[in-house]
Amino acid sequence: IGAEDAAYLVSLIRSIPGFPKEGIIFRDFMPVLADAKGLHLMMKALEAALPVPAEDFDAVAGLEARGFLFGPALAAHLGKGFIAVRKAGKLPPQTIRESYDLEYGSESVEIEAEAVKPGERVLIVDDLIATGGTAAAGAELIERAGGTVVGFSFVMGLDGLNGTGKLGGRPTSVLVTMP
Ligand code: AMP
Repeated sequence: IGAEDAAYLVSLIRSIPGFPKEGIIFRDFMPVLADAKGLHLMMKALEAALPVPAEDFDAVAGLEARGFLFGPALAAHLGKGFIAVRKAGKLPPQTIRESYDLEYGSESVEIEAEAVKPGERVLIVDDLIATGGTAAAGAELIERAGGTVVGFSFVMGLDGLNGTGKLGGRPTSVLVTMP
């Protein structure tokens, strides 16, 4: 997409200082989804910035919850399947679970054991990468289930946290970097 379209896309991202707690600027991409032109441009931008060619993966995996809001749309746009990486405790058995550390405490994500076909090549997507912990745990799950994570696509990335450094050197694309 051109510079004018990119600026339009970025203008739709809403920033909320102090949410969900003091010191965090919450980056809200819902207005992009709500805007017909914005959503169309986001799909085009994600496609143009794919970290590997579209022929090199079979499915898109989205991270709960906001990776579910555009992952299936991107998958359909590219002619791929969609795999849901859920927060722990929501899926019926059999599941595979992966825990990761947060600043305080820990978080877990799960997939259905059968969700990934043997040898399936998967692109992981989410709205935003901060520390990279969520995306790294998602990748670990996909690979424990027998898939190969070929890369990651994020709409937004936070400066200074080196989140992409946690992704095992896999190809990664971030559309917009923000403080
Ligand atoms: P992390 O595991 O630290 O990379 O955090 C990424 C996850 O937390 C993603 O699923 C994001 O949706 C969410 N997240 C983290 N920081 C923010 C932020 N400043 N604004 C919006 N979402 C965020």
